[in-house]
Amino acid sequence: MGKRRSRKASKATAPPKKLKLDTAFDCPFCNHTGSVECSIDLKHRIAVASCGVCNERYCTVANALTEPVDVYSEWIDACERANEGVVVRRGYADETDDF
Ligand SMILES: [Zn+2]
Repeated sequence: MGKRRSRKASKATAPPKKLKLDTAFDCPFCNHTGSVECSIDLKHRIAVASCGVCNERYCTVANALTEPVDVYSEWIDACERANEGVVVRRGYADETDDF
């Protein structure tokens, strides 16, 4: 009689996949929690993040790899740049002038 080898199922505990993607973020303008929603239109390659409270919105270009969190972080980046942009640009212009 052959020995029966009982095979234990190897690590059946795969990490559960998130069914629901996080698409609600905090608004950088009114600081509302979870009021920003991102929608990605791959057909037109447009990604929009908009706040349902203050109606502030940000549009950017989307591709197949774009995720809501990317749109949101880009928005935050744009906000920070807008705040620092003037100073940075001036410094840059001076350098090119010197050339
Ligand atoms: Zn807002």
